[in-house]
Amino acid sequence: MAKNNMEVKKMNRNTIFRYILKRDIVSKLDISEALRLSVPTVAQGLQDLQEKGLVTEEGTFDSTGGRKAKGYSCIRNAKAALGVDITENHINIVMIDLAEQNIISIRKKFRIIYDNVMSYQALKNEIEEVIGKSGIDRDRILGMGISLPAIIDRTGKVIYASYERMNIDPDFYDIVSRQFSFPVILTNDANSGGRAEAGLLEEVDDVIYFSLSQTVGGAVLINRQLFYGQNQRGGEFGHMTLVVDGPPCYCGRRGCVDIYCSSAILSNETEGNLELFFKRMEEGEEKLKKIWNTYLDNLAIAVHNLYMVFDSDIIIGGYVGMHMGKYLDDLKERVKKMDTHINNTNFIRESKLKYEAPAIGAASIFIEEYRKQI
Ligand SMILES: [Zn+2]
Repeated sequence: MAKNNMEVKKMNRNTIFRYILKRDIVSKLDISEALRLSVPTVAQGLQDLQEKGLVTEEGTFDSTGGRKAKGYSCIRNAKAALGVDITENHINIVMIDLAEQNIISIRKKFRIIYDNVMSYQALKNEIEEVIGKSGIDRDRILGMGISLPAIIDRTGKVIYASYERMNIDPDFYDIVSRQFSFPVILTNDANSGGRAEAGLLEEVDDVIYFSLSQTVGGAVLINRQLFYGQNQRGGEFGHMTLVVDGPPCYCGRRGCVDIYCSSAILSNETEGNLELFFKRMEEGEEKLKKIWNTYLDNLAIAVHNLYMVFDSDIIIGGYVGMHMGKYLDDLKERVKKMDTHINNTNFIRESKLKYEAPAIGAASIFIEEYRKQI
């Protein structure tokens, strides 16, 4: 069906906005040439974007031909979104701009007690403090995404199941959303981490995010869209069986990937401190070296299984992912050894965002929605 004039105008405006958003400052001619749009079309798009308060003229700079060209740039913080990641022992709150860059990010020890009025008030106070420090007016906040270790429905309102250790209050959404004037949605932690990490990979459209934190989870992104499955459990890699009749898992079954690949396997050796595990292991502690060696062997099996199912890039994320850098080649070698058909292990990738991935991914839901309708 042919698109009407309005739709074409919107599409061009949107493309122009996204182009400028990725750059600091550009001229009309730059945009016209890069996007193959006529100069009058670009001029119209820029005018619309200026009227919406999303683009500003940014002085002049030399262009080819000697004439001074007007520069344009995005007003990146014209709108912003909040992201909150609640884990067992910490909270990370971020405010991101239209380019998904942090305006502010705080992370601190915080243990939420569900079903407790004081605890909910403390959570609200933490969020309010970040809003205050960000300098962003409340009416510019598009919404707040909250990432939780739980299975959440597609509307972002209903918690289907939470991990036993967390015991999340089923009324969590109602209670928290009532406290704020902007929209609130809940997301699964691994899904939001995957969303944020995949957003940074320009070259591939299908991505698997393998999250190795206190619990093991994951996300499947096909064509950059999250795949949820029929019961919103798509990507629950932590409860695939790795070893038949292995040790019991908190889910009630045995030998799950979670038992072998969670960060707790490592940090339990060093008083719950994962940094300390890697520090002491790198200093040469034999027992820790052995544990890490076994961990990598098990991780290689899990990664290979995922590759057999999805044949896509796999990002190693979560807490362990943050330390993966210098061990990534070792992991690749182990996967390669398992399967002679694999001659290129570049599909195994390091995560880039570290602790902030779930919070940024949760906030980015609102940014992406907004950018679509510009
Ligand atoms: Zn399990």
